[in-house]
Amino acid sequence: MVAAVCLTLGMMELRVGLGRPVDAPRLLFSLSAFVTAAVCGFELGMMRADSPAEFHALLRWGDVGSCLMVITLAAFIWVYFRSGNQWLALAGPCLYGAGLVFDFLPGSSLIYLNITGLKTVETFGGASYRVAVGEPNPWNMLAYLGVLLLLIFVIDASVRLARRGEQRRAIIIGGSVVLWGLIAGAHSALIEIGVVRMPYIVSVTYLVIVLAMSFELTSDVAAAAKTARQLQESERRMDLASAAAGLGMWAWDLNDYEGWASAKAQGLLGLLDSEHLTQAQFMDAVHPDDRQAVKLAVERSITDDRDFEVEHRVQVGGETRWLSARGRVERNAGGTPILMRGVLLDISARRRSEMELQHLQGQLVHTSRVSMMGQLATALAHELHQPLGAILRNAEAAELFLEHDPPELDELRAILADIRADDRRAREVIDRLRALLKRRSIEPLALSVVDVLTNIGALTRADAAARSITVDIEPGSGLPSIMGDGVHLQQVLLNLVLNAMDAIDGANSRKRMIAVRAEYPGGREVEVIVNDTGPGIPSVELGLIFEPFFTTKASGMGIGLSVSRTIIEAHGGRIWAENNATEGATFRFTLPTVDKAAL
Ligand code: ADP
Repeated sequence: MVAAVCLTLGMMELRVGLGRPVDAPRLLFSLSAFVTAAVCGFELGMMRADSPAEFHALLRWGDVGSCLMVITLAAFIWVYFRSGNQWLALAGPCLYGAGLVFDFLPGSSLIYLNITGLKTVETFGGASYRVAVGEPNPWNMLAYLGVLLLLIFVIDASVRLARRGEQRRAIIIGGSVVLWGLIAGAHSALIEIGVVRMPYIVSVTYLVIVLAMSFELTSDVAAAAKTARQLQESERRMDLASAAAGLGMWAWDLNDYEGWASAKAQGLLGLLDSEHLTQAQFMDAVHPDDRQAVKLAVERSITDDRDFEVEHRVQVGGETRWLSARGRVERNAGGTPILMRGVLLDISARRRSEMELQHLQGQLVHTSRVSMMGQLATALAHELHQPLGAILRNAEAAELFLEHDPPELDELRAILADIRADDRRAREVIDRLRALLKRRSIEPLALSVVDVLTNIGALTRADAAARSITVDIEPGSGLPSIMGDGVHLQQVLLNLVLNAMDAIDGANSRKRMIAVRAEYPGGREVEVIVNDTGPGIPSVELGLIFEPFFTTKASGMGIGLSVSRTIIEAHGGRIWAENNATEGATFRFTLPTVDKAAL
């Protein structure tokens, strides 16, 4: 019966121990239970032995079993408690093991130097059993010392475990091993010194440990059941939360590339109904244009150990969806990435509104540019007037020369050359205007700041002359190319220069100067500066002028600076304003150099 109990518990512990991950303490305990079952058999055999030789053979193997019990129990406590002195843990089994030598010397055993006979003992119930009669072996002390050292090791390990706050385990498991050692040891000693005539019950006393471990196992099962209930509850909560948030969940096993996706995630990816998905299936679902970006994001998150975050498209039944994927890499104890877990969110609606917003912003930028062109119109008409007037006058002169007989061909040729030059001048003015009036989104290219600044000089020349303002363009030297859209940057600069002219005009400043220059302080940004001699900006307004619809002008719309900020930020730069120490205001904006933009 004792053997059956040991085998049953041993099998249960073996089953738990072989789970994933392998539970070493449970495996060691199951081993000790199996050894005890075997010892049980030897003890039963000794009770029924017919001759001293048979008794001796069984006693020898019973000794080996007892020694194995000491070894497996020491190892079990060592790995289960993760505490105690390792030398003490080794000392007990070693001493016991050393004693076993006597069991294998001819004619002797560890317990008896020789067994002279067997004695039959009758029990009250009429049953009988055999006990040995012989001369005790003094070296048997080795076995007792071994058990004693085991007990000292277990007590020490239990005390340390209790100090770490695990009193329950220390008392139940540590206590049961100590109790077993004391009872089994004391009982065996009493038999061997002839005080009691009873069979060995080393295996029977092991029931104390079986009881303790069963108790431990059932508490583990109860705890596991409680955890399972909590897990179910938290899964339900998670399901509810993810359903409410429209989140699809997924996980990839990074080793065998097998993954899992919730029904919602499968729906979002447009995948067939299958809980187990491979990484390749995930990748196939991603829009071909976004695959590289997704792959890169996954790799980066694994190598840099940071959250995975990417927005990508999927094509589901002719419809393109935008998904936001976020995830995290999980690693094993050795730090090797084993799993990637994350969520998917449909962000198509947000993307659509972002695109609509972008479109509207583009329209606003364009409207603001057209309105700015309105301000320039008078001056530009004046600028056009000059070459057109010259063409007319040249044509009239040509008519006069044609009336001469013979017509003065050299003069006529010179006049035609003038007409062509004036026509070119007029066309340049119109081309510049047309380029600015074209509606287009920002398309950054590598371009020279000097060109942008020179163009602004040409566009504002007429207006500045009409308002008697000097616009001083100093492009600067040694400037690197920047990444930008020429038309949009001209719009920003034009807006700053026109604002500066308005400021100078409005305050009727005596000194009427605007300086536009570019500087390259080093690094990865070029700074463009527009400086005026106007009245400056009242300090309360400094934080407001870039807000949409903020204006102090009677006919102003208040969108120029807000649009300028949108354009500069879309270029990856910054724009700000400050008052000069003496007079006027300075507006500055930065633009990324080609190198930085390429990063
Ligand atoms: P708007 O020109 O239609 O008023 P902006 O957004 O271009 O719109 O300018 C907003 C406000 O910023 C202007 O009304 C003006 O008060 C102030 N501002 C802009 N540039 C200057 C400047 N150079 N000096 C002083 N104030 C300025």
